[in-house]
Amino acid sequence: MNHEISRRAWFSCLKTFVTSGAAGLVATGLSRNEVVFSQTSQSTPLATPTIEWTGHSYVHPQKVLLWENTRKEFREALEAGKVKAAIIPTGSTEQHNEHLALICDTACATLIAQQAALRLYPQVTVATPCPLGYAPYHMARKGTLTLRKETFTAYVYDVIQSLRAHDIRTILVVNGHNGNHGPLLEAMPEWRKKLGMTLDSETYVTAFKEEELAKFLTSYRLLREGKLDTLARRTGMSHASEVETSILMAAYPDRVRSFTMEEYDQAKLNYESEFSPEVEAYLEPFTKQGWPKGENPENARDRARQEQALFATKEKGERLITIATQFIADRVQRMIDSTEKGAPWPEKG
Ligand SMILES: [Zn+2]
Repeated sequence: MNHEISRRAWFSCLKTFVTSGAAGLVATGLSRNEVVFSQTSQSTPLATPTIEWTGHSYVHPQKVLLWENTRKEFREALEAGKVKAAIIPTGSTEQHNEHLALICDTACATLIAQQAALRLYPQVTVATPCPLGYAPYHMARKGTLTLRKETFTAYVYDVIQSLRAHDIRTILVVNGHNGNHGPLLEAMPEWRKKLGMTLDSETYVTAFKEEELAKFLTSYRLLREGKLDTLARRTGMSHASEVETSILMAAYPDRVRSFTMEEYDQAKLNYESEFSPEVEAYLEPFTKQGWPKGENPENARDRARQEQALFATKEKGERLITIATQFIADRVQRMIDSTEKGAPWPEKG
């Protein structure tokens, strides 16, 4: 693969070089050989970063996915010292309003992990994603599956330990579901101590800063301008709304369904009361906290999410994917550097 990259880069560069050399030939009256010689000695066009970077687009996107490799391919990459780090994507299988496939969070985390690994190719492998997360508060909506917190963290720990056994000493968990964020952060210090490695977790939406989002996302601009008039509208932005819908439109359009607010209202959904005892047991720890005056604001919030999803576009999704990919790739590169220098992780300051 690498051989092919450099050959193509060489030929494309050579073509440009010969063309400009030929033009120079007429202007200066020198022989062809002299022009080529003098230009070669003045600059080294073959070594420009642009050429190296173009080469990366020839990497087959599945190459960075651990589970798509054979044992031979993975072993040889490890033995050659090419694979220095792993990303473990974690997500959820949970309701994402009326229009997004339940796998949204897992799909987004895996996408960002894969894009970051391609950017850092061949240093990073993406481990098999964890498709379920900690999501009891979504259980009122049919289709949601949840793990207990301890099941989720035990699963992630076991994946980390497996990779560690294959001598991978740098691992970032890239999370796509808010409910997993706290349990992962909480577990990290103890896991680092136990495994003695460069280990961290990051939820990819951390890459998105409100100020930046307000430049191209309608809901964030309206928030900044003080035009999101209800608490439901101001707190319904992080789930199934403009951000996630845009990302799926850009990366996986077959996981997005069309809808209208008329259809939404006709469905007369109720997420505030009349739950079965089983569902009530899942919701109970959350109904006690965070709801003003003990009221369950879910119906209004659910509707606000649906409204804000209407702002989503494929172009916004592409921009969001680029921001998140850069953020995660930078983090993994810093972690690899830290492992190689024998420096402690997390970084100080
Ligand atoms: Zn989500």
